[in-house]
Amino acid sequence: MKRTLCLLLAALLCLSVLTGCAAKKPVSAPAETSPVPASAPAEEKKEEAAPIEEAQEAPAPGEEEAPEETTHEEKPYVEPTDVREGLWDLIPFDEMPYERPDLDEMRAAIDQVGEALDSGADYETVEALLDACDECYAAFDTMEAIAFIRSCQDMTDEFYAGEYAWLDEASADVSQLFEKLYFRCGMSDMARELEEKYFWPGFAEEYADDANAFYDDEMVSLLQTESNLIAEYRDTVANPIVVLANGSEVEFFSALDEYEGYAYLNLLFSYYDQFNPKLASIYIDLVKNRQEQARAAGYDSYEELAFDHDFTRDYSPELAEEYLQGVKEHIVPLYREVMASGALWDVESSPIDAQRLEEGLRYGVSDMGEDVQEAYEFMVKYRLCDLDYSPLKAEMSFQTYLSAYEVPFLFMDAGGTLNDITTFSHEFGHYLDGYLNYNAEETIDLAECYSQAMELLMLTRLDEVLSEEELENLYQIKMLDVLNMYVQQAAFAEFEHIVYSTDPEELTEDYVNQVFLQVSQDYGFCEAGYEDFYSKLWIDITHFFEQPFYVITYPVSNDIAMQIFQLEEAQPGAGLEKILEMLPREYPDMLDSALNAGLDSPFDPGRLEAVADTMRRILLEGGAAKAA
Ligand SMILES: [Zn+2]
Repeated sequence: MKRTLCLLLAALLCLSVLTGCAAKKPVSAPAETSPVPASAPAEEKKEEAAPIEEAQEAPAPGEEEAPEETTHEEKPYVEPTDVREGLWDLIPFDEMPYERPDLDEMRAAIDQVGEALDSGADYETVEALLDACDECYAAFDTMEAIAFIRSCQDMTDEFYAGEYAWLDEASADVSQLFEKLYFRCGMSDMARELEEKYFWPGFAEEYADDANAFYDDEMVSLLQTESNLIAEYRDTVANPIVVLANGSEVEFFSALDEYEGYAYLNLLFSYYDQFNPKLASIYIDLVKNRQEQARAAGYDSYEELAFDHDFTRDYSPELAEEYLQGVKEHIVPLYREVMASGALWDVESSPIDAQRLEEGLRYGVSDMGEDVQEAYEFMVKYRLCDLDYSPLKAEMSFQTYLSAYEVPFLFMDAGGTLNDITTFSHEFGHYLDGYLNYNAEETIDLAECYSQAMELLMLTRLDEVLSEEELENLYQIKMLDVLNMYVQQAAFAEFEHIVYSTDPEELTEDYVNQVFLQVSQDYGFCEAGYEDFYSKLWIDITHFFEQPFYVITYPVSNDIAMQIFQLEEAQPGAGLEKILEMLPREYPDMLDSALNAGLDSPFDPGRLEAVADTMRRILLEGGAAKAA
């Protein structure tokens, strides 16, 4: 293959590995710990925004190589304990029924609380009525998660796609209903008693005045419009039909699997040319809608609203901006050096079949202590994961929570290669957080520390199940992935910052493309000669459409994961011990958790240089074997 083509494909592959997954935001933890139900329901994020090359290389089912004999020593099986105390009895995921939640029933339950408070009912009565509201919420939340997972398991399934769209639109109403309920409680005579016995410290003050409501009618209407735009986006990218130069029409994703060489490239160019205008139009409407949301909620910018309200970050947009400048200064030069070195071309993500994957994962996990091992066996026992390879699956990986059953669920879009190990490990880090903490997660940034640390820790535990060459390759793949992540996610974060700071009247398709081209050049991943093509690639990034201002989380929280990895390298077991120490979420925010665990802040001077040094050693100085 021509080198230019090769470079281009590699760049595409890089873009495809860019986004991590995400835990669905906690929407219905037990009332004692739960704030107002979160507005944005699907906090899933694409693990692979457009796993273009991977999709092409993945072996079709049935074509995998015969599994190799495993020689590793079997670890003792840990029987999972079944005590989860969900509202509903736990059954395997595929047997869980789906039923559209009854919003009238939810409204009636909430009205009854108000009536009881008005009529001077006693605490026990109010508590029982609040429990009933919680149950309605858990049912809504769980059905939303089930519809989302099943829709992702088969993107051609119109029933679940329709149900999820309905639930997603209804979620703004539901958030408003619950916020009103909380204000009824917070403004009642029973506020203090409810704070003490039912809600959380600070509740009575937080809900003392409904003039401070976030979900007023204007906000709910804006959120519904946002939700409809997201549904339109999903519909547009679900199964795009591309018109080729010769006038024939092809299904984009199946053609990607079949086409090779220049036919493949022509398909890509046609796709971006044809879909960039429509997706840009949806995106610009989304940005304008969100700027309106910020105004309605009294924020200066949507970026501030997102940092404060959606992600409750313990660092400011300004600090994030400084961090991005640091990435440009310390990581981008290494990225350019690695790309120029050709080291990338030696790395191959070799095929791995489902059985070896499963054995490898079980082995890696068995070395992480009984709690982790039990969580894994529990997942297998109740089929709380989908690791299958299927062309019908959504091209993303994520973890979500089934609150009425009190269990997490792990979804992975398998590619059939070694990469699946890191993808799984990432989601398993989220799964473990959800499992051990009963979805008590407060900040996505902390969640991403667990997931990214788990990816690195898994690497250090596979020497018995992978060959030396496979392991060396996996280290290289992972470190390239980390390097790409820093460069690309930082570029994406800057892209969002610029787009949302722009006067909405100035936003056009050309302007947005131009901003993306600029950041892709500034961060070193735009291939010269392909500027027009690169300027359009941003339409692949689901986060821009569904999870604005999420992406900054990846580089910032990955710093914590790299500190864990550095500890593990210095003394095997020390990194694992540290992450297990941080897992109970004693401190809800990322910086607090890191500092209290004796780690550095990602914003400390020297951190980006230290990360660059580790990556340099493994990628350019053959340090992976030493690390292993
Ligand atoms: Zn994640």
